[in-house]
Amino acid sequence: MIELKDVSLRYGKSVALNQISLQIPAKSYVIIEGPSGAGKSSLLRLLASFEIPTKGEVTVTGKAMSKLSRAARSHYRRSVGYIGNDVILLPNRSCFENVALPMRIAGNSNEEIQARVSAALTRVGLAKASKFLPSVLSGGEQQRVAIARAIVNRPAVLLADEPTAQLDGLAADKIAQLFREFNQANVTILVATHDAERFKGWTHRMKLNAGKLELFDAKGDAL
Ligand code: ADP
Repeated sequence: MIELKDVSLRYGKSVALNQISLQIPAKSYVIIEGPSGAGKSSLLRLLASFEIPTKGEVTVTGKAMSKLSRAARSHYRRSVGYIGNDVILLPNRSCFENVALPMRIAGNSNEEIQARVSAALTRVGLAKASKFLPSVLSGGEQQRVAIARAIVNRPAVLLADEPTAQLDGLAADKIAQLFREFNQANVTILVATHDAERFKGWTHRMKLNAGKLELFDAKGDAL
């Protein structure tokens, strides 16, 4: 369960999130919509703990983020997968090594890395691309490598910031299908998108506008 209580986030004078309160039950699949500049990325970055709220409190599974120790915060970061809309892969490393990166940082053993990276690449349909450099893959395939990297630590929560913005319809559908499968495997998913219809199976739909939030369930009822 993720809870925001009266959360605001400012960048200098710019108000990115304005007094947002919401509860997201575990295993939800949340679509975040809103025009450019509405605060979608800010909300995801906050939940990834890349940002600290200017005001209010973010609570995850009963723990207030502001009260976490540095070690607990790092642990939390590893339990969350984050996918940006700009796919950033290391160009001179194989797909395998790109996916392995968070596990190497976390100090996992080579055996574990071998097993989990292979499983993650298989999960996104790219087992055969393991040894390739990212540059030989299509944009959609590169995004799937980034997704494999985000799920390699088996996160309970997956945050995706316009993950299909740069992709054609077919490639975007494959990503949406993966998210559906992850959610069916009990991963909580939040995805910011201008293309909600593509992400079938969502349980909640949020609209942000100038840092303010409206929340709806799958029937369109306000929550
Ligand atoms: P969205 O993802 O919906 O396009 P953002 O969360 O990126 O919206 O931005 C929300 C507001 O916060 C915008 O007014 C934006 O200009 C501002 N903002 C976002 N990031 C920064 C930053 N690093 N520095 C200054 N202002 C920012």
